[in-house]
Amino acid sequence: MPPLKSVPGMRDLLPHALPTWRRLRGLAEDVAELRGYAPIETPILEPTELFSRAVGEGTDVVDKEMYTFTDAGGRSVTLRPEATASVTRAYFDAGLHQQPQPVRLYYWGPTFRYDRPQAGRYRQFFQFGVEAVGEADPGLDVEVIEMGRDWLDRGGVTGVSVELNSIGDATCRPAYREALREHFRPHIDAMGPVAQRRFELNPLRLLDSKDPAAEPVVSAAPSPVDFLCDACAEHYAAVKAGLDAVGVEYRENPRLVRGLDYYTRTAFEYWAEDLQGAQNALGGGGRYDGLAEVLGHPPTPAVGFAMGVDRAVLALERAGATVPAPPPQVYVIPAVVAARTRALDLAGALRRVGLRTVVGFGERSLKSHMRSAQKSGAPCVVIIGAQELAQGTAAVRDMVKGEQTEVNIELAVVAAAVVVERARLGS
Ligand code: AMP
Repeated sequence: MPPLKSVPGMRDLLPHALPTWRRLRGLAEDVAELRGYAPIETPILEPTELFSRAVGEGTDVVDKEMYTFTDAGGRSVTLRPEATASVTRAYFDAGLHQQPQPVRLYYWGPTFRYDRPQAGRYRQFFQFGVEAVGEADPGLDVEVIEMGRDWLDRGGVTGVSVELNSIGDATCRPAYREALREHFRPHIDAMGPVAQRRFELNPLRLLDSKDPAAEPVVSAAPSPVDFLCDACAEHYAAVKAGLDAVGVEYRENPRLVRGLDYYTRTAFEYWAEDLQGAQNALGGGGRYDGLAEVLGHPPTPAVGFAMGVDRAVLALERAGATVPAPPPQVYVIPAVVAARTRALDLAGALRRVGLRTVVGFGERSLKSHMRSAQKSGAPCVVIIGAQELAQGTAAVRDMVKGEQTEVNIELAVVAAAVVVERARLGS
């Protein structure tokens, strides 16, 4: 029987990578809570209709990329392909709309899309996201954009540009949509079925085209900012002024449209300059003042972002800026079988004073034990051999200095702690 493998596109996050993930998660909590955002966790499985309505038929996510199945009760359910719809559903389900507004929320968790796997694109990936729901003030757009930038900065992800655009709202978007159709109409027959479908359903997405042959037509397309109504133009100007005030540099990008239908006004992405091709978006977001109504609730303005954690980690790996796994501080070797219980006992005492301690089990030569101890990276090794066992002592070895002292077993914790501290201070 061939050995079993994971589902294609779904990865194991391994011990060497997870310290970087955990650091990014800690920083996510920091940047969110510093701005008054509270954590929320929504179910990974939601009614399929939540996404087909919120994300919208005609988008790649809904048409091709959802993990949808029928559960034992005959309901159609879907592994979440994004979390904004879930957070908005939860906001109303839990009555958060009756609290003082806006409600500031953040989340971190797995997201699922059935897309073609490649570096930086997985079928299970993690998103850190924030949503500020219940307020239309452009200050919130600024707060959210600046927070994403802060997370990347603190995480050490460098070479990032903030791409910014405004795609209008229900008042001005229809005119822009029509202008786009006018622009693309003479070319659409030559552009293939995907573009033709976008032309019908959502011509804004034609600006997203990856087809090099379409590039000249796409770059000559009208810009959404030229079609903004007064209210949207004012909002956009306020967002830009706010970003200037808080010192976030951005690049106005008239081609930036969000793949999801409920976005209004502000659209932004964080691009990593050194991640290649389509996988260079580290995250993105925008305003989605139209989503609540799509889900059957009263109109409710909101703004948020979703950052791709996998891609942030990838950027750090490429820059050689990952976080190493912490080595044990003490490695205890029961050099004879009879020393096992004493080694366990000592390890317990070391852990009680907070030292990361590993016991080298297994009947092996002292040399082989020492090789493992060396590889573990522990600055202190404590050896209990036959002689130590008989005398009630332990050999405490400073791996940095290569010095070893025999101490009474009662003093082994203190002696080990001194060695660990000396190594930490580099003295
Ligand atoms: P989106 O909701 O498509 O804007 O996604 C937000 C962010 O999630 C993107 O900017 C990516 O960083 C990340 N992302 C989206 N799809 C994937 C994927 N298949 N694999 C890894 N990261 C992804």
